[in-house]
Amino acid sequence: MDKITIIVPCYNEQEVIEMFYPAVQQHVEKIPDCTFNYIFVNDGSRDSTLEKLRALADAHDNVTYLSLSRNFGKESAMMAGIDFADGDAVIIMDADLQHPPEKIAEMVKLWREGYDDVCGKRVDRAGETWLKRTCANIFYAVMKKFSTSYEMQRDVGDFRLLDRRCIEALRLIRENQRFTKGLFTWVGYRKKEFPFEVQPRAAGTTTWNFLALFNLAMKGMTSFTTAPLRLMTFLGVTISGAAMLYMLFVLTMALLYGDPVAGYPTLLTIILFLGGMQLLALGIIGEYLGQIFHESKGRPIYLVDEMNGKRLIYKPQFVPTERNVQ
Ligand code: UDP
Ligand code: MG
Repeated sequence: MDKITIIVPCYNEQEVIEMFYPAVQQHVEKIPDCTFNYIFVNDGSRDSTLEKLRALADAHDNVTYLSLSRNFGKESAMMAGIDFADGDAVIIMDADLQHPPEKIAEMVKLWREGYDDVCGKRVDRAGETWLKRTCANIFYAVMKKFSTSYEMQRDVGDFRLLDRRCIEALRLIRENQRFTKGLFTWVGYRKKEFPFEVQPRAAGTTTWNFLALFNLAMKGMTSFTTAPLRLMTFLGVTISGAAMLYMLFVLTMALLYGDPVAGYPTLLTIILFLGGMQLLALGIIGEYLGQIFHESKGRPIYLVDEMNGKRLIYKPQFVPTERNVQ
């Protein structure tokens, strides 16, 4: 009998929680030799998501909920689920039913064939704007070119089944600037993609906007490749070389032909151009510095406030007691 844990990050999902459980349960019940349990992670919702989850956990034995102490973001919420998951495998699903539950049977089948990471690949991005699609294209192209050790999977999101081995591997990675999609690729193991169509949201609204996606892409780049830094070095060398040649040209013109140097416009253009390049380079270094800043503090990825009605308290590693203080 296999045990599979379904992890569901929830942020302001009060309208869908009640729909989600029966919708998924109806499909997983039919899968032979397999029990399913659920971990809902309430990621600091401001609506009645937590109350809905409490009711759900009371009504069903196979439901656990974790409530984080504030909104930590989907990446951290997923990690909380992964840390608490006890199944032989884990399935990560969005609460809004955009990930079709009827695919679970197929995922389990592939897992039983020996794949460790069965990931859903979106078949159409039709509903997305031209701008979003183009940006996604650029992002994947850059990542593909520069992350040499492994390839970022295209159109593959968080809807996936992970074997216990992947879970344990992910637990080793405690960086708190998490780009989970990259981490799934980074851990490796045997991957298998299956196609699925993203459903429209069952209810509620998406929390992702263009800025959030841009930030995620920046995080992805800075935590998985140092290629932009290399690019700046390359540009620096090229521009210095070009400047040298131009200087020779200007000197020759002045010395041999007494040509007065065309001053102001050239000077202004060059100064502005170089100033821009320097700011760009500084900005890129700054992005990496920001990552180091956040990582160096070594803060936990999330804090759990409540788990199935129990309040959690975090204690420091060393607690003075009579026995260890003399
Ligand atoms: N989510 C979360 N924390 C957040 C934002 C989102 O746990 O800060 C959850 C959300 O409840 C949902 C999933 O992540 O289950 C995907 O979010 P959403 O549907 O808003 O994004 P989209 O499907 O539009 O990419
Ligand atoms: Mg969604």
